[in-house]
Amino acid sequence: MTLPYTLSRWSLADLYTAHDAPDMQAAFDELESRVSAFEANREKLAADMPAQEFMQVVRQIEATSRLGYCISGFAELSFAADTQDQAAMAFMGRVDQLMASFQNRVLFFSLWWKGLDEGPANRLMAGSGDYRYWLEEMRHFKPHTLSEPEEKIINIKDVTGVKALNNLYDSITNRYVFKLEVEGQVQELTRGELMVYVREHDPDQRAGAYQELYRVYGDDAPILGQMYQTLVRDWRSEHIDLRKFSSPISARNLVNDIPDEVVDTLLEVCQRNAPLFQRYFRLKARWLGMERIRRYDVYAPVAKSEKRYDYAQAAEMVLGSFREFEPRVASLAQRVFDESHLDSEVRKGKRGGAFCASITNDITPWVLVNYQGRADDVATLAHELGHAIHAMLASHHGLFTFHSSLPLAETASTFGEMMLIDKLLAEESDESVRRDMLFRQVDDAYATIMRQAFFALFERQAHEMVQSGATVDEMADAYMENLKVQFGDSVELSDEFRWEWVSIPHIYQVPFYVYAYTFGQLLVFSLYQQFKAEGEAFKPRYLKILAAGGSDAPARILSEAGIDIYSAAFWQGGFDVLAGLLDQLEAIPVAA
Ligand SMILES: [Zn+2]
Repeated sequence: MTLPYTLSRWSLADLYTAHDAPDMQAAFDELESRVSAFEANREKLAADMPAQEFMQVVRQIEATSRLGYCISGFAELSFAADTQDQAAMAFMGRVDQLMASFQNRVLFFSLWWKGLDEGPANRLMAGSGDYRYWLEEMRHFKPHTLSEPEEKIINIKDVTGVKALNNLYDSITNRYVFKLEVEGQVQELTRGELMVYVREHDPDQRAGAYQELYRVYGDDAPILGQMYQTLVRDWRSEHIDLRKFSSPISARNLVNDIPDEVVDTLLEVCQRNAPLFQRYFRLKARWLGMERIRRYDVYAPVAKSEKRYDYAQAAEMVLGSFREFEPRVASLAQRVFDESHLDSEVRKGKRGGAFCASITNDITPWVLVNYQGRADDVATLAHELGHAIHAMLASHHGLFTFHSSLPLAETASTFGEMMLIDKLLAEESDESVRRDMLFRQVDDAYATIMRQAFFALFERQAHEMVQSGATVDEMADAYMENLKVQFGDSVELSDEFRWEWVSIPHIYQVPFYVYAYTFGQLLVFSLYQQFKAEGEAFKPRYLKILAAGGSDAPARILSEAGIDIYSAAFWQGGFDVLAGLLDQLEAIPVAA
């Protein structure tokens, strides 16, 4: 079925009618009774329990979680659709609190499971089918798990400790107002609105936007830096002192199920390839008619492109590019449209940006975009639908294993975006539009690969510096050194960038999260290269990676597809693709 594609809001009816409807009340009642019923399992759990009984308990927790995910999913999606809706906000608060208390009530199961000896655990896992990896992964944390009262205390104290500190960081930074002169008028902007100007043609505007950004963050740097130091200390006290991880980053690596040495290799290869993007920045300087670009000009456009695509055209293009790759993939994406799970229009109060939410394995995911007709918006649509396809291809797995782990989570989305850009490029005859797309592709690659890798390198250093008593100023100095290594002499750095790190929420909220972006983007570059070289032969291998979802360790899923993430040569392959792209760009004569 093909619908006329029009900008619209989504429907959440596949979850519930409304937050105050009878079906929602019924869901709450059912969840309460399921959690109570589950608590009765505490006595049943024993090393010698029959495997069948164990599986009943596992299926029970899956069914309970499924219901919880649906309720939370409805709360989050309603809020995203209208962040100004007080009822949606209040409902989300109520749901968050309820879910935390349910989690504490069922905590005994995972603690018992992690504490079990190897022998009985292996016996119980042997017949667990699709649940196996979920069970196995939980047990990775066995050496790092504390007693039930200790774990409960950490949960309780986190709410008023690290979580509260992060909420404060959000509250402080979300109310910042940035002032920028635009067309002779001083505008008051949010950070999102301000950052639009760093991709504008006017060099003064780009500089002005960055200077204003770090003026505001810099004013609060002593306090924001102190908050960061506190979070870093908490991370060390919990993960090193109590849980006995060998290093701050390895606590994150275990969550991602990526071995420490893989992350070390990845970051080393990135450092070695810093000159590649430096070469790109020199090329950009030639296009911008500058001796050397400033840090302000990193995302400067090299061509003027006002090209717009209407929404129906965008939908056809995205689905078309998927169809050319594999009709089955296109029909999965089509379902998101047909089932009204796509919120595409720009609306006051609606959350900005874009995301895909796969709530459970048996319901089509929801996608949110703010479609405005630029080539970037078309690429974003392809990206988010790629996420949806990934989840749907893995939907035959269970609730706990269909979601891919973080480092693989961007595979289908980035790949989908690259297919779309290839199609746009093939169909575009205007040279300046083509050039704009190609340069933007490298801009984005810089932002997801090298910038994130250097954040991770800074985090690694920062966690050690805090431990040895460094001041906030000393950390800012270290950050400047990090930027100098990253840019070499290809970019002129100004001093306000010393406060960039206090403006990165990820390093506060999810320490060491950022390298997953680097991992994902380099992986997709290599995969895309294989696709170009092998065509049809590549597809089954690729689809198998996606269909695996989160049912096995990333290293095992990828090694089945012939990819060795332990090898530096594999990661270098991703950079070689970029180098090829750069060769193409350098071959274009610089236009006046
Ligand atoms: Zn994504």
